[in-house]
Amino acid sequence: MAGLAISVLLFDIALVLSSTRARALGIAALMTDRFRESEERIRAVIDHASDGIIAFDAGGRISTYNPGAEKLFGYSKEEAFGLRFGDLLAGWQASKVEELSSGSPDIATECLARSKDGTSFPAELTISRMEQARGADVYSAIIRDITARKLTEEKLRESEERYALASRGANDGLWDWNLKTDEVYFSNRWKEIIGAGAGADGDEVGSSPEEWFSRVHARDVDALRKTLADHLEGRTSFFESEHRVKHTAGGYRWVLSRAIAVRDEHGTASRLAGSQTDVTTRKNAEKQLRYDALHDQLTGLPNRTFFMAQLEKARAAAAGHAPALFGLLFLDMDRFKVVNDSLGHMIGDQLLVAIAGRLKACVRPGDSICRLGGDEFAVLFEEVADVQAATQLAERIQEKLQQPLRISGHEVYAAVSIGIALSSDGRRSAEEMLRDADIAMYRAKAQGRGRYELFDRRMHAHAVEVLQIETDLRRTVERDEFVLHYQPILDLGQRRVLSCEALLRWQHPKRGLIYPGQFLSIAEETGIINEISIWLLKEACRQSREWRDAGLPEICVSVNISPRQFVHQDVEALVESCLAEARLEPASLQLELTEGALMESSESSLRPLTNLYQRGVRISLDDFGTGYSSLVYLRRFPIHNIKIDQSFVKRVPADPGDVAVVAGLIGLAHTLGLRVIAEGVETAAQLQFLRDNNCDAVQGYLLGRPREAATFAKVLAEANHPVAASLRDLQATMTFD
Ligand code: C2E
Ligand code: MG
Ligand code: MG
Repeated sequence: MAGLAISVLLFDIALVLSSTRARALGIAALMTDRFRESEERIRAVIDHASDGIIAFDAGGRISTYNPGAEKLFGYSKEEAFGLRFGDLLAGWQASKVEELSSGSPDIATECLARSKDGTSFPAELTISRMEQARGADVYSAIIRDITARKLTEEKLRESEERYALASRGANDGLWDWNLKTDEVYFSNRWKEIIGAGAGADGDEVGSSPEEWFSRVHARDVDALRKTLADHLEGRTSFFESEHRVKHTAGGYRWVLSRAIAVRDEHGTASRLAGSQTDVTTRKNAEKQLRYDALHDQLTGLPNRTFFMAQLEKARAAAAGHAPALFGLLFLDMDRFKVVNDSLGHMIGDQLLVAIAGRLKACVRPGDSICRLGGDEFAVLFEEVADVQAATQLAERIQEKLQQPLRISGHEVYAAVSIGIALSSDGRRSAEEMLRDADIAMYRAKAQGRGRYELFDRRMHAHAVEVLQIETDLRRTVERDEFVLHYQPILDLGQRRVLSCEALLRWQHPKRGLIYPGQFLSIAEETGIINEISIWLLKEACRQSREWRDAGLPEICVSVNISPRQFVHQDVEALVESCLAEARLEPASLQLELTEGALMESSESSLRPLTNLYQRGVRISLDDFGTGYSSLVYLRRFPIHNIKIDQSFVKRVPADPGDVAVVAGLIGLAHTLGLRVIAEGVETAAQLQFLRDNNCDAVQGYLLGRPREAATFAKVLAEANHPVAASLRDLQATMTFD
């Protein structure tokens, strides 16, 4: 259209120019009204045109120069008449015009125009040749300033470049789906992502949409098609889908595909253009993170979080369906700390991995095992036939774990205590069930390790009581609710009370006197024992000083030491300061440690004990015979006395087995240079037996119950030289050599 308009205009210009020339030649008669009208009309068009319109002859001399050109170039008409056409352009070749003379079509080009002030601007130039009646050629030029257009083009180019750069930088593939022809353009990068590559290889991918869909993972393709349909049918404002696409090298890549449809005025999509990003790395990382969040790194077993979710699922299923029994086993390894401390954490870790492996071999395929943390494991059975089936599994596990394991050249024995919680109605929450199993496990441990216990309600009540004790215990030391009771220890050789054992009692404001069996393990577990121990050592030493100052016979006070103290306290410094404060010599204090406590202590944690032993503090091995009963260990430890546990003393002289054990123990201890104290002596027959077997000292209700300090002082005052009144009668019945 524009081209036609311009050529009509140029034809008119030719007419005007020729009429002007004719007028100048004085051939006015040739002028007609039509021409005059035409000239005026055309002159107006030329004068008002925003384009520059210039006529020039073959030599470039300008003969027509409209106001539009004046504005463009800055030259006035008069000035322009003195110029050549080439002066208005940068790099103009006059020869081009000659080509027009030889009949070639109009010149239409873009060029750089030069204005009067020396600046230049981009212009679109059309030059036509107009044949004159007289044969002289005149050329007309229409010049349009295209600065604005060029700028827009430049911006567009820049923005396209930026987009190209961005998409290359973002590593995105591009696709453009012409919905009318049903052809898809896939960019090289798009193809590269699925391994088809650019160039020749890229040709493997055609332009059918099926090239894409046929490569999408069977599990993702339906969702992809639905997401696409939703967008094309206008239900979503953009298309976005994450799916797997088959890679030519095998396997799948995860891609994120995003697009927006181009729609016509009716809203019908005609085109869908978008990008495809390879998100495989992110997807894999997400998958790994999800896995890590739900699994234990060491054993690879599901972790607590995962387990609780499974347990909750089983609970919900049981709550919603016909009664089905489900439940869990809570496993805690016995003496795992000993392995860790003696063989090191590396072996400890390997042991946990080995245990995990053995557990897997014990359970049915549907049951799940998890590591709850530390040395705790759990097994979930989503359906179990009856209680027996659950206890049988516990037995099976214990049997399997009992077989020794070889780890890095060490033979390691692993035993577990197991708590079982079952439910048939799913009314207890997952958390409650885990806690029930935990409580049952603690009960199993308390009954002697390597056992299992089934949770029952009474256990829960007991657990609540334990919690109450724990709460109360925290305030006890500061409230001064602890007292020490003292029990005499009679030396059979000298027939005198040469020492006593300080035993802890809790004077509870509501419950009355509480014995250590009820709170000691809680105090140990919660660490409150540390505070208590400081108090009782100080108190025992203070009491001892008080008795001495009162002129009572000087005896050695025996204090029980908790194994925990060696780990968490500087026992050596504590003992030294208590002795110093009470001005007591080391030999007036005796420390009692249980056999188990010594066994579970590492060599380094026993150094303070060795130092105290060397300083003269007396050391006793308490409850001897209840732990490892290994006399071999006795040589390794710094001890003066062993205290034979009351469970052995109880059945002598009636039980021949215990008779042999006690007699044997006394003999062996003496060979090792250790003194023997027998605990729990309640009958004269026991006393006689012990004396006959050369036991060094005795302690028990027969000789005196643990009493508070004031009562015990009376026994000391009246008794010792000679022995207490009750003992005096006793003496009468005994035959001393
Ligand atoms: P233990 O050190 O073996 O203390 C002896 C226990 O046997 C005491 O129980 C004592 O009352 C009891 N007993 C003494 N003679 C007889 C008897 O003829 N027959 C019977 N059946 N029992 C007798 P108690 O006071 O209940 O202490 C229990 C355990 O608690 C102690 O066993 C000791 O291991 C621990 N314990 C007591 N006081 C303390 C303490 O101050 N610190 C620490 N760490 N542990 C303590
Ligand atoms: Mg003791
Ligand atoms: Mg004892």
